[in-house]
Amino acid sequence: MARDYQEIDVAGGRPIRLWTAGVPVEPAARAQLMNTARLPFVFGHLAVMPDVHLGKGATIGSVIPTVGAIVPAAVGVDIGCGMIAARSSLTAAELPDSLGRLRAAIEAAVPHGRVPGRRDPGAWREVPRAVDEAWQALAPRFARLIERYPSLDKTHHRVHLGTLGSGNHFVEVCLDEAERVWFMLHSGSRGVGNAIGSLFIELAQADLRGHLANLPDRDLAYLKEGSRHFDDYVEAVGWAQDFARANRALMMRQVVDAARRVLGRPFDARVEAVDCHHNYVQRETHFGRELWITRKGAVSARRGELGIIPGSMGAKSFIVRGLGNEDSFCSCSHGAGRTMSRAEAKRRYTVDDQVRATRGVECRKDAAVIDEIPMAYKDIDAVMAAQRSLVEVVHTLRQVVCVKG
Ligand code: 5GP
Ligand code: MN
Ligand code: MN
Repeated sequence: MARDYQEIDVAGGRPIRLWTAGVPVEPAARAQLMNTARLPFVFGHLAVMPDVHLGKGATIGSVIPTVGAIVPAAVGVDIGCGMIAARSSLTAAELPDSLGRLRAAIEAAVPHGRVPGRRDPGAWREVPRAVDEAWQALAPRFARLIERYPSLDKTHHRVHLGTLGSGNHFVEVCLDEAERVWFMLHSGSRGVGNAIGSLFIELAQADLRGHLANLPDRDLAYLKEGSRHFDDYVEAVGWAQDFARANRALMMRQVVDAARRVLGRPFDARVEAVDCHHNYVQRETHFGRELWITRKGAVSARRGELGIIPGSMGAKSFIVRGLGNEDSFCSCSHGAGRTMSRAEAKRRYTVDDQVRATRGVECRKDAAVIDEIPMAYKDIDAVMAAQRSLVEVVHTLRQVVCVKG
């Protein structure tokens, strides 16, 4: 097969393979990728997805294969952030004419950090039974972690399980190409994942002490396999990833139940459920080697595996099927990717622009959401075209309701 990526050689490092034909790549992101590619424990090459953009420490939209070490800041602080989607038995014709009530019901059912005009606490006042049961299942492993790291116990993580978080996280009601209704949402491991991520980033920096100055960026501090903190991180990050998955599953149930109440009719929403992390690390075998694969803003796309690639508040999203492209360590993009910083988006665009860009979508259109305006993201069609050798499209979704925290 013809080479489907661009390859950059890095002096003193591993090559970088980019699936970015036809999409912009910031020079700062390129420089950051080069820093990562020079880490001595990177295996083979870095794989760069078309939604690539500058991140903290490591680049968003990159896949970092390593042997003998993990960079906790490359996994990031929203450990296990990802997407879940479920196709329902409903069709567009069964949705109410006014979607405001459906949006309000979803907003009421999922603590999401915002109610009209002010913030809600983003946490449960009364923890639902299903949430409590899920927490009880996670609690024993967490208890073992806080024996070693008591600072992780500062907040009440139980009240954040099954809640959205603010900013870039969202819940959507979408229609596919056959006018079938889908529910889809984006969230991660909330405060507890943040606490775990932040703690181990600091521990990695502390462990390297004198050697930190040799790194191009403090946030590339790594934990070495065989060290105590490495083993504890693997345990903690795995737990946070499980928390994130439970978080999404619980919210999906809340959302579907809320929709059932508003629509006043039973429907099924389990057909073709897809769930994928896009900030995480796990053990995988590639090129015959056992590796640590860190996907920072990237999704696993093994042959036949389903994944979710969202566009923006006003653009299409995609359910995709992996093609198992080994050169990318079987990965694809996790979205369209930002083209500009949040601050830049706020400078450039107005509420009127947001209204125009989200026409037909029942969603927030206020000053506080302008940093999420569709124009702050890359053109999703270009992003999809650049990764034709990584995934194929199974469904094309357009949102009719978008709840943002
Ligand atoms: P991240 O996890 O990096 O914050 O975001 C993942 C991707 O989600 C972004 O790159 C963007 O393409 C997409 N996205 C951001 N906001 C929305 C939204 O409100 N709806 C949809 N469908 N996609 C979004
Ligand atoms: Mn997140
Ligand atoms: Mn995310």
